Amino acid sequence: MSRRLNDGAADVLVVGGGPAGLATAIACRQAGLSVSLVDRSQPIIDKACGEGLMPDGLACLQRLGIAVESSLGRPFFGIRYIDGESVAEGRFPGPPGQGIRRTRLHQALVHRAEVSGVALSWQRRATGLRQRQGGGVELELQGGEVISARWLVGADGLRSRVRQWASMGGVDIAGPGSRRFGVRRHYTLAPWSDCVEVYWAEGCEAYVTPVAADEVGVAILWSGGAADFDTLLHAFPGLVERLGDAVSCSRDRGAGPLRQPVGSVARGSVALVGDAAGYLDAISGEGLSLAFHQAEALATALASGRLSEYRRRHRQICRLPSAMIRLLLWIEKRPALRQRVIKALAREPRLFSRFLGLHSRHLPWHRLGWSTGPRLLWRLLQA
Ligand SMILES: Cc1cc2nc3c(=O)[nH]c(=O)nc-3n(C[C@H](O)[C@H](O)[C@H](O)COP(=O)(O)OP(=O)(O)OC[C@H]3O[C@@H](n4cnc5c(N)ncnc54)[C@H](O)[C@@H]3O)c2cc1C
Repeated sequence: MSRRLNDGAADVLVVGGGPAGLATAIACRQAGLSVSLVDRSQPIIDKACGEGLMPDGLACLQRLGIAVESSLGRPFFGIRYIDGESVAEGRFPGPPGQGIRRTRLHQALVHRAEVSGVALSWQRRATGLRQRQGGGVELELQGGEVISARWLVGADGLRSRVRQWASMGGVDIAGPGSRRFGVRRHYTLAPWSDCVEVYWAEGCEAYVTPVAADEVGVAILWSGGAADFDTLLHAFPGLVERLGDAVSCSRDRGAGPLRQPVGSVARGSVALVGDAAGYLDAISGEGLSLAFHQAEALATALASGRLSEYRRRHRQICRLPSAMIRLLLWIEKRPALRQRVIKALAREPRLFSRFLGLHSRHLPWHRLGWSTGPRLLWRLLQA
């Protein structure tokens, strides 16, 4: 039998206290809404992630009132692509990004949410929801409790149940062969680069992110079936050499399949945010930044009572990143072209830098310049 807990108590009920859910809760409080949040886990929550926060994601965090001091992580100033002998490095044309352990990021977000007045409730698993006619939502929790709210935000990650319960999932037209997964591990080792390094190999990539003065994170993304970190790591001899006999200092964590289609990000009184709102791939390393932009847009829409506005803003936020991810995945599958692209970018570091400016929302499209296409094409032909 269900027990009704708080009929009509909160304006917004968030399911999922990961980065997306916490950022949304904080942004909603900033917009003057009352917020409750439930998560099935106990903080501090760790997760498979490359842990590179792009400059625009950092700026979002600052707007949410979270000062990302250097003690919280390690700045990175660009991206370095490494494919065998080919190396290309692009520097951000604006402020740096930050490598930050998920646990430290989670701690900072939880603290900010508490201070902002979000009612946080841990170790409570959502098991179902019902949209009420005439508005409002009821969320069922394990044990039979029911919480009601005016709006419900599904921030419950890649395999979102809220997305499923609210019939907001999409159709995946790609076959199981194109499924991609991720796994991460940390090493006690002083970072050797002030960039996030991306090592490319056949069917997989490794991301090395400096996360502290004596710690680097390595995340590997791959296509296909089950695999473990050690087997995958051997596809990157240059990286294996770099890591030497450094000691691993975290438990391996995996995630996937990464691609999770979504039909709609808002329906009735329910909205989705973060990975729950659909996910393509981690190849561009910006899931956190996207989640924070979405959180801000969703809070604005909820405060004005117009969820349709969130649908529009979500499309806008994801348009360029989605195009970038599709392009990177297409190149990833074509090793000869990939090597050419990296050689071309190596010869045009300023161009690479401008792409990063675009990618991190620092530069508008038109700043790429009319000559970008022809120049890149010329370099590709030369490579
Ligand atoms: C290998 C890998 C590398 C990545 N690298 C980067 C990177 O370098 N930079 C970057 O920006 N992004 C990266 N990403 C993406 C980034 O990790 C995600 O986009 C981000 O974690 C999304 O946060 P979220 O809050 O949406 O989901 P999550 O962090 O998954 O949080 C979901 C929360 O919902 C809770 N939950 C789930 N179900 C229920 C339920 N039924 N009831 C209650 N609570 C529930 C969970 O406990 C969890 O706390 C990477 C991802 C992977 C897999």
